[in-house]
Parts: sequence; C-alpha cells; structure tokens
Amino acid sequence: MAIKGFLPRTLKSRMTTVVILLVLAATTIVTSVALMLAERDMKAVIGTQQYAVLSSAAAYVDEQLEAKRAILATLPEGLPVGIHTDPAALQTALKARPAVHGEFFNIVAFDRNGAMVATLRPDLNENSVSANARPYFEQTLKTRKGLISAPFISRISGRPVVLLTQPVLDSAGDVAFVITGSIDLQKSDFFGPINALKPGQTGFMFIMTAGGILIHHPTPSRLLQHIHARPGTNKATDMALAGFEGWTEAQNKDGEPGIYAYRRLRTTQWIVGARYPTAEAMAPMRALRRQAMLAATAFAAVAGVVAWLAIARLMAPLERLRGSLARIRQGDSDLAALRTSRRDEIGELGDTLHALMAERAAAEQRTRDSETLVRNILEHAPDAFVSSDSDGNITEWNAQAEQTFGWTRDEAVGRGVAGLIVPHKMREAHNAGMRHFARTGEGPIVNTRVRVTALHRDGHEIPVELSLGSVPHGGGFLATAFLHDVSERVAYEERIAAGERRARVIADSIPALVAYIDRDLRYRFTNEHYQYLLGKDPRAMLGKTMAEVFGAEVAADWQDKLDAALRGERIRVERERVELGSQLHLMIDLVPDIGGDGEVAGFYLFAMDITQRKNAELTQAASEKRLKLITDHLPALISYVDSEHRMRFGNATYQSWLGVDPATLAARPLLDVLGERQYAKIKPYLERAFRGEVVNFELRALLHGEVRTLETTFVPDQRPDGGVAGVYALNNDVSRLKAVERQLNELARLDTLTGIPNRRRFEEVLGQAMDRSKRQGGAMALAYLDIDNFKAINDTLGHGAGDAVLKEFSSRLLRSVRATDLVARLAGDEFVIVFEHLSDGTEAAALAGKIIAAVREEMAIEDGTMVVTTSLGVALYNGDGETQASLVARADTALYAAKRQGRNCCVVDTVPA
Ligand code: GH3
Ligand code: MG
Repeated sequence: MAIKGFLPRTLKSRMTTVVILLVLAATTIVTSVALMLAERDMKAVIGTQQYAVLSSAAAYVDEQLEAKRAILATLPEGLPVGIHTDPAALQTALKARPAVHGEFFNIVAFDRNGAMVATLRPDLNENSVSANARPYFEQTLKTRKGLISAPFISRISGRPVVLLTQPVLDSAGDVAFVITGSIDLQKSDFFGPINALKPGQTGFMFIMTAGGILIHHPTPSRLLQHIHARPGTNKATDMALAGFEGWTEAQNKDGEPGIYAYRRLRTTQWIVGARYPTAEAMAPMRALRRQAMLAATAFAAVAGVVAWLAIARLMAPLERLRGSLARIRQGDSDLAALRTSRRDEIGELGDTLHALMAERAAAEQRTRDSETLVRNILEHAPDAFVSSDSDGNITEWNAQAEQTFGWTRDEAVGRGVAGLIVPHKMREAHNAGMRHFARTGEGPIVNTRVRVTALHRDGHEIPVELSLGSVPHGGGFLATAFLHDVSERVAYEERIAAGERRARVIADSIPALVAYIDRDLRYRFTNEHYQYLLGKDPRAMLGKTMAEVFGAEVAADWQDKLDAALRGERIRVERERVELGSQLHLMIDLVPDIGGDGEVAGFYLFAMDITQRKNAELTQAASEKRLKLITDHLPALISYVDSEHRMRFGNATYQSWLGVDPATLAARPLLDVLGERQYAKIKPYLERAFRGEVVNFELRALLHGEVRTLETTFVPDQRPDGGVAGVYALNNDVSRLKAVERQLNELARLDTLTGIPNRRRFEEVLGQAMDRSKRQGGAMALAYLDIDNFKAINDTLGHGAGDAVLKEFSSRLLRSVRATDLVARLAGDEFVIVFEHLSDGTEAAALAGKIIAAVREEMAIEDGTMVVTTSLGVALYNGDGETQASLVARADTALYAAKRQGRNCCVVDTVPA
C-alpha cells in the first residue's frame, strides 16, 4: 500500500501520528460545523436588519414625494385673478414663491397647448420646449389631477428627471396651465439620506420603477437604463420585479453572492433595493474561522506531545521484552528472562513466547534423536540407500551401498549420482529426469518399485530393484533411493522364462484356445488363438478375470463349471456363442491343476472350435422342424395316408378343427378316425389317388358342430418305381368363400339404391310366376310404373332429393302389395310389380288405384314436403302364346297410354297384342 511509505517507522511515532490526526480531525469538524451554523444565523440577522433599514428608507422617499406633491399643490392658490391670460404675470408669481424653489430642480408652467409659459430656470434653454404629447402632460389634462411621471431625460436641462405635475384651473373649471416640478435624479439631496443607509463598505442602495427602469443607482451611466440592460441574470432582481418584498441571498450578474433586500414605495410602486456583498458581510466570520483552525492545529500539536510521552511510557515493558529476546538469541540470557510477573497483555506475550521457545527447543531435540535413529536404521538396512539433492549430488550413502557399488561413503558423498552409479547409456535420460524432479519433486518412477541397471565401481552392470521417494528439502527436493541387488533373481527368472517360452510356442501353434486360470479366476496364460477365434488380445487378458474380459453375464453362466474345476473335477461342455458376428460352437475342457499337496492351484482351459460339425447336425434338424412348423400353422388339415388306408401323419390343425391330438393319429385306420359315413364318401377319391391321379373334390363335414365345406386334394406319393407309397391329403375350409359367393349372388339381384329386387331378379321371378299361373290357373298381372315428371324433382331439388323420392316411392309400393307379389326397380324411375293369385282381371285395376292413392300422399323430403304421382300400365297375363317380352311390352305400352292421358292414372290392357 502506498500509504505505508509515509507512515513513521516505529510503533510509537505511528500511534502519536494517529492521535494528532484524530485530534486535528475532531477539532476541525466541530469548529467547521459550529461556524457554518453561526454563518447561517448571521446571514438571517443581517438580511432582516437590512430589510428593516430599507423599509425606513422607502418610508422616507414616500414622505419626500408626498411633501413635494403637497407643496406643488399649494401653488395655484393665491395666483392673481386673470393670470390665465397673462403668462408674464405667472412667471412673476412663480418667482415670488421662493419656498417652493428649493424643493425642485426646476418649476415650469405650460399652457393648455403645451407651450412653456413660465420657468424658474430661464438660464436653461426654453425656446424649443413643448409639453405637447408628453404622457405626463396629456394625463394631467385629462384627469385634471397632479401626478408623478415616469423618469426621463429632461429636454430643458438634459438631466435625468421625474416630474410632479399640478393643473391650474380657470374660472370655468378648465385646465389653464399645467405646472411641473422636476426632481433631478442625479442630485444627491433627494436620495442623499438613502445613500447614507447603504450596507457596509461595498454595499449600495438603488431604486427602480416597477417596470425595472433604474431611477437611482451608484453607477450614473445605468440611470434610466433597464436593470436587465446589463447582461446576465440575478435571481433576486427577478423576484423583486415579480413582486417580492423582503431579503434573500443571490448571485449578481458577475456571479458574486450578495444579500439582497427589496421594498416597494407606497406612492409610486418603485422598488427600493439594497445589495450587501456576502464576502464583506461574512468577513468577520472568515477571520474567526482562520483563528479557529490555528487553535485546532496548536491543540493537535500539544496532544501529539502528550501522546508521545504517554505511549513511550506504556511501551517500555515491550521494549524490555524485545531486549530479552535479542539476548536469548545471542545466548547471553536464559529463557526464564521472558517470564515477568505482569498480569497484562505484555505479561501474557512474554509467557507465550517462553512456552513457544521451550516447545521449539524440545522439538529440536526430538529431531536430532530421530535423525540418529534414521541414520542407524539406514546403516543396518539390507538394501543400499542413496540420497541426492536437487542438483543430483549424493548426500547419503550407507554401508550396503558401499558393498553393492564398491565406493566408500567418503568417496561417494558430494559426487553426482549419474557419474557414479548410472550406466553411460542411461545418463542422458537420468539427467533429464533429475531436472524435472528438482523442480517438482515428481517423476514417472517416484513412489514405485522398478527394476533398473546400475554401474559398479569396477565397470560391470548390476540389475537392481529401485524404490525412489522424494522429500522436500531447503526449497528443493531430496531424492531418496533404496537399491536392492537382484542379480541372482534375474538369473533364476531367465531360466524359468526359457521354459515358458517353449510352452508358449507350443500353445500358440495349437488351433484351439489354451489358457491357465488361477484360484482367483484370473487368466495367467492365454495363447494366440484367442486373438484369431475371439478377437481378444491374449496379452491384455492376463491378470484379468473372465467377467472383466467377457462380461459379467458370461462369467455368471460359467460360475458353477469353474467352481467344479477348482474342486478338482474335470469338466467337458459344449457351448455356442456369437463371436465377431458369427455363430461359434466350442467344445471346452477344464482340467484342474492339482499340486503335489493335493490342492487345486488353478485349471487349464482347452477349447476346440466344432462349429462346422455342429452346423451340419443342426441344418438337418432345423429343416425338419421348419417343415413341421409350416404345416402346423397352415389353416388346413394335412395328413399322410399309407396304402393300407392308415393315418401316418396329421398336422396340428387336427387338434384345432377336429379336437383330435395329431400324436394319437399315427397308424390309426382312416375308417376309425373319420367314421363310416365320411370314409365311404372319400374312399372312391382315395382309390383314384392310389392309382396315381391328383384328385380334387368338395366335402361337407361337421366341424365344431357346424357344417363346413372342405376343398380336398389327394396327392399321390410316388415311389421311384412308379408305385404309390401313400397319399398326401390336404383339406381347406372353403365355407367362408362359399358364403361370400352366395351373398354376392343375392346382391346381384337387388337394386342398390332402394334395396328391392332389380331387373335380373324380376326376369327370373316373372318367368316362374308365368309358369305357376299357367300350371295352377290363377290370374296374374304385370304392372309397369313410372314416376311423373321425375326429372323436374332432380332438376329443382337435386339428385339427392330425387334418390330420397325413389326410396320412399319403393317403400310405398311394398306397403301397397301382398308379400307374395314382387316389386322391382328396372331403371331410373321405372318400377314393375308382378301380381299373382288374382281372383280376376278387375282386381288388378283396383290394386293399381290403391297404389296411385298411396303414392299421391304427401312425402317428407329434405326438410319439406312434396307430392309425387305415378302412372301405371297394367297387362293381364293371357296364358298361351304369351312370352315374358310380350307381357312386358304390353305393360309398357299401357303405361305410355297412361302418360298420354295426363299421368297420375292407370291404363289396363286385357287383350293380348
Ligand atoms: P315423365 O312424367 O314423362 O315420366 O317425366 P319424367 O320427368 O319423370 O321423365 P323420365 O321418366 O324420362 O325421367 C327419368 C329421370 O330419372 C331421368 C334421370 O335423370 C333420372 N334418374 C335416373 N336414375 C336416377 C337415380 O338413380 N336417381 C335420381 N335421382 N334420378 C335418376
Ligand atoms: Mg318418369
């Protein structure tokens, strides 16, 4: 912090400085606030006082003006009679009133035309003067009363003046003269007393009209000027012009603050103003402030001295404590010197320091003891111990190190590790590693156990196991290393490895999976075939469990087999699995590895790929299974019958259709399965099939209590020698097909719009009816009907309405006939009725009349009603010689006649054409 540089160095002077600053700040703030309040009050006093003075000045001016007006008013009195026509006498009379003279700068009389007729100051230029058109003159003429004019520059005297006027009336009461008395605004005796009231040395008083024209001002050049003629603003002036009376503080147009007071004159509304510059008004306060500040400074200085003395006294024990500490460090004094009998903070500090230093001494002793212990341990350690600093120089070298590397401790300590025990080819890497280690205390082999090669004094290399650690030390790191000579172990390992290599070559050459799995179920050996067959890197599998390599699910599946192998059982299983996208069949052997003590140490796993053999077996079985599956799910009875008419096979449909378990069918005689009646029905067909023919026929049978139609096909099973070994029988249930066929047949005979029989049906029925009539002798008639003006309905109400009429029409026809009579729609709005079993020919006419009446009744069509009529042509059947066509033609002709007769009627044809 920047401020730190300015602070005194010792605590004593710092505290003193703080005291001085605090005292100074406190006194300054208190004084300033007090003075500020006093200044505010003082301004109020001055302002009020100034306003009071101003008020009395205004009263004085009012009085003066009133007095002058009164004097002027006395002038007309005592003027001689006839003076109205004698200006010279007026001049003389004015001169004779010396009491008036002193009150005005000049007194002038004008006649009613404005010409000057008398003046008290003839010395002033009089010739050119006329009061004509002057406002004060005109006003006086008009009101016939005296007034006080606005200020202006007199043309007589050339001085700024205001005029008081007084009219002189003649005997008729008209204005004869106007006498004016002028007041010189620059002359001091009118405003003199006011000037005496000006506030202070630099303050001043001024008067302006209500409109802002300056009448009195210390600067003569501003007289008769508007107050705003000088540029700038003054808030106080604006307030005064707006009617304010009283005092206020404001800045003048030069920006200097002043106390202003304003008061208006009662007589003229002129504004009397005073300005008192604040700087002057407040000068005593400013002096007071300076003195107060000086006093505050002096007070702070005294406080500083006193504080210095007090603090020095209070700090003395602390000084003594510091001395004691310095002496203890030099060893000139005992720790006990820190303890005092003081009960205050300094006493506590001494005690705490004493405790702290005592603890430190004890800790140092402990460290020394522990170092001795560590050194002892290292000396007797079975491993070589070497430590080096961050520059790579040896700092420790124990007895075992001397023995392993051939250098004595004295020779080794202080020399670089790299030069001493690191083989030449590894020095570069070692040094790079050391540089990184020196900076960070970290490295790839720190805190691990690695096998490296070290250098012996005599130049031969020794395999050692190295454990490297790091200890922070003096801002850097110490490297600590235990090194164990493993030359013997390496030789032994090499012998073992050679044996293992041989085993591996053999295992890797076998086209089967070979593995060894230990008691913890971890792979300890895996051959190359794992890569080939399963896509698993055999090296990556080592040390892992089956769950880690193949997943938890596979491992759980194998668990009981593995457990059994570990119990000493030899296991063989066949397994299939999907590997690398293809199906694999494996034959797997688990062979326990039983040690000399009878304990199972693990087991060997051998797995052969038997996919090809397995696939051949499976294909055969699958194709049979597929066939059976297909036949079982076909919705048909499929069976095989041998030459003795015995069932050899029946599919699952036997169960669902006939409730017969297909398994019970084998070798059952057909007669037994089908029953005598059915067997008799099919036997001829079966025999044809056994003669080599494919036979097709329809068979009706009872299935689930329903008569069903079965389409049956017999296919002979021909032997290579031409003989027939058996017959395949296929039965399809075609009942539904048959029903649909029937339904279609019926539909083809019905009219789709009205649902009544159509032309096709009509033609079938008509023939039958004609036959019946001929056979049984009952009368029969054919009526041909056509709706009248049906086109108009379509055209006006639309086709939908037309359809509705057709439907309603057909249902009315149905209602009007007997159930045995046939009503049919031929086409469009043409219908026919076949009446049978008529008692005689006249009955047909009666029936026709009934139909006409039924049709004529109002129909409700599409939210409205309408009336539809029909025309009928009826032909009575005459028996012999009559054909369907001739009967229809006669009825049609009769209909045509009915239409011609005007519709809504019936024509009956009884005579054959
Ligand atoms: P008329 O009294 O001479 O029989 O006069 P009409 O207007 O009935 O004339 P006609 O019998 O010749 O007209 C039959 C009309 O029926 C002609 C055709 O547009 C109409 N039509 C034919 N089939 C259908 C149908 O299925 N629905 C409807 N809405 N109109 C049909
Ligand atoms: Mg018609």
